[in-house]
Amino acid sequence: MSTEVREIVIVGSGPAGYTAAIYAARADLKPVIYEGSVTAGGALMNTTEVENFPGFVDGVMGPDLMDSMRKQAKRFGAELITDDVVEMDLEGDIKTIKDGSGNVVKAKAVILAMGSAYREIGLENEKRLSGRGVSWCATCDGFFFRDQVIAVVGGGDSAVEEATFLTKFASKVVLIHRRDSLRASKIMQERAFNNPKLELMWDTEVIDVLGADKVSGLKLRNTKTGAESEQAFTGLFVAIGHIPRSELVSSQVALDNEGYVKVDGRSTRTNVSGVFACGDLVDHTYQQAITAAGSGCQAAIDAEKFLSH
Ligand code: NAP
Repeated sequence: MSTEVREIVIVGSGPAGYTAAIYAARADLKPVIYEGSVTAGGALMNTTEVENFPGFVDGVMGPDLMDSMRKQAKRFGAELITDDVVEMDLEGDIKTIKDGSGNVVKAKAVILAMGSAYREIGLENEKRLSGRGVSWCATCDGFFFRDQVIAVVGGGDSAVEEATFLTKFASKVVLIHRRDSLRASKIMQERAFNNPKLELMWDTEVIDVLGADKVSGLKLRNTKTGAESEQAFTGLFVAIGHIPRSELVSSQVALDNEGYVKVDGRSTRTNVSGVFACGDLVDHTYQQAITAAGSGCQAAIDAEKFLSH
């Protein structure tokens, strides 16, 4: 990478990052986009069919959608770098971005689009048995649980989607939720209720993951009665939401108390001049591919306005 100062660097490659890249490239800003070394494409790379992204009458596979966005960004001249950003200095007029290979890029504007990471339950044995029966990604690991009895924790769209997907492989999937009603959308709930391989366990939380070298069961607690029990499972899929991936910039831009990057009103402007944020990194509420893409577009337009002044 040369020492020239670029107009825009975009960090993150979900729908927000790629959309920002498409808009910035079409504005002739020749953006550099850091896609990540192993996670290019963001959360949609771990999903199957996306049925609600407008324009796809019959749905589209998450990885195919991301691949199209990527190609579209490239077509207009975005420079894609398959590496992680490890350090950023966002102060002043010229920002410095350092990647995992030691390259340094300087830019006048930075768009933060790092998305979110899977939330963990926070149990010691959840971590210890991660990859040994504990997973956060049904599409990545579901295949390994053929004809087994597995548990999914959560009550939102992700949990219901994962549980439904896992019934393709497992002999039985038990969806464990801490309350007595799901947060997931009605259409997803209907699918779950009508799936003969999917069982719902209400008012229950996982308090421990059992097993020496691999998952053998779960210790559960009824949230209403407090009664504790153990049940045999060979797999645990955790789908209890996401946390914003803001740690890289936490000492440089203002975050709210849940770690989301704060933006100015309906804009994507952070409290640091020339730094914009979009997608799941700023979004408490919607967290959809289409809203992330929309905010990526806003970030590119905000950055373009900033640069033209
Ligand atoms: P979410 O909607 O925030 O749901 C998280 C679920 O996990 C909630 O049911 C919550 O319980 C539960 N939970 C949170 N912390 C927990 C803990 N420590 N222990 C046990 N349970 C816990 O997250 P999401 O399902 O990942 O969805 C995120 C966003 O993506 C949503 O806007 C969703 O609509 C969207 N999404 C859409 C699709 C789709 O359209 N196909 C697919 C996946 C996700 P409570 O209900 O009690 O709070």
